[in-house]
Amino acid sequence: MNVPRLRHPEKAKKVDSVIPRKPKWIRKKKIDSPEYYETRRLMRDHNLTTVCEEAACPNIGECWSKQHATMMIMGEVCTRGCSFCNVATGRPDQLDVFEPGRVAQAVKKLALRHVVITSVDRDDLQDGGAEHIAQTIRAVRHHNPGTTVEVLTPDFLGKGDAPHAVFEAAPDVFNHNLETVPHLYPRVRPGARYYTSLRLLDDAKRANPGLFTKSGLMVGLGETMNDVRQVMDDLRAAQVDFLTVGQYLQPTPKHHPIDRFWTPEEFAQLESIARAKGFLHVSATPLTRSSFHADADFQQLKAAREAQLSRTS
Ligand code: SF4
Repeated sequence: MNVPRLRHPEKAKKVDSVIPRKPKWIRKKKIDSPEYYETRRLMRDHNLTTVCEEAACPNIGECWSKQHATMMIMGEVCTRGCSFCNVATGRPDQLDVFEPGRVAQAVKKLALRHVVITSVDRDDLQDGGAEHIAQTIRAVRHHNPGTTVEVLTPDFLGKGDAPHAVFEAAPDVFNHNLETVPHLYPRVRPGARYYTSLRLLDDAKRANPGLFTKSGLMVGLGETMNDVRQVMDDLRAAQVDFLTVGQYLQPTPKHHPIDRFWTPEEFAQLESIARAKGFLHVSATPLTRSSFHADADFQQLKAAREAQLSRTS
C-alpha cells in the first residue's frame, strides 16, 4: 500500500496551535472569473507550478483574474522547512532543462508586461539553482523582449559566488525576502541567516547598480514595531529600493502560530516610517505579498527613480 507523502514531514511532531479567526480586513471575496480559469488552464497546460497555489495565497482570485501568476521554478518541493511556509519540504526532483522555455512561452501567452518568477530553495544543488534561474531570465527575455523580469530568489546560503550568475542575467528587479526580524530567525527561518540574506541584497546592488532591489517582511510572527524599524534601517544600509510588508497568515495548525493581527492603521504607520527612511517605494497593507500588484509597483518604482534622478541632476 502506498503511504501518502507528508507535505510537511519536519512539522509532523509539532504541537498543533489554534488558528485565530481572521479579522474583517483580511477576508477576501472569492473571485471566480473566466480569466481566473484561463490563467489556471495555461499553468496546467505548460506544466508550471505557481507560488500562488503552493503558498495558498489569499490574493489568488484577484491576481489570476488579471492573468498575473507568479511562477515557481525548480520543482514544488523545497529543501528548507521554514515554519511559516506552506510549500512542501523534502527531497526535490532533478531540474527540468525545458522549464525555462516553458516559462517563457507562458509569459508570451499571458502577454505579461512584467513577470515575477520565484523558486523553491535548492540546497541540494551545487549552485543552489542560480544558473537555472539565470537561464529562465534569459529565456523569458529572448521570447518576450518587451517584458520586464522580477526574480524572487532563495538565499544561496553556502553557495559562494553562485548568485552572481543571477546578477549577470540582469533581472529588472532582484527580490529576496528577509521575511522576519533577526531574533525570530531560529524559529521562523531556521535554515537561513539574517546577515546572509541582507548581504545577498547588498551584493546584488553592488554587482549591478541599475537593477532595483526589493525585500519583504511578514508581521504577526512575534516582532515589535521597533524590531521592524531596525530591519528597515538594515535594508536601507544595503541600498534596498523597495519594501513590502504584509500580515502573516498561518497555513495549518502545525505552522508557526500567529502572534497577532496588525491593524490597517499600523500598516499605514509602517508605510510612512519606511518612506521616511528613504525607500523608493513601499507597499505595506495586511494583504501585501511580494508579488501582489508587482507590475503597477514596478511602474511606480521606475517613476520614483526618475524623479529622484531629476532632483539630483
Ligand atoms: S499575490 Fe503573488 S503569490 Fe499571491 S496570488 Fe498574487 S501573484 Fe500569486
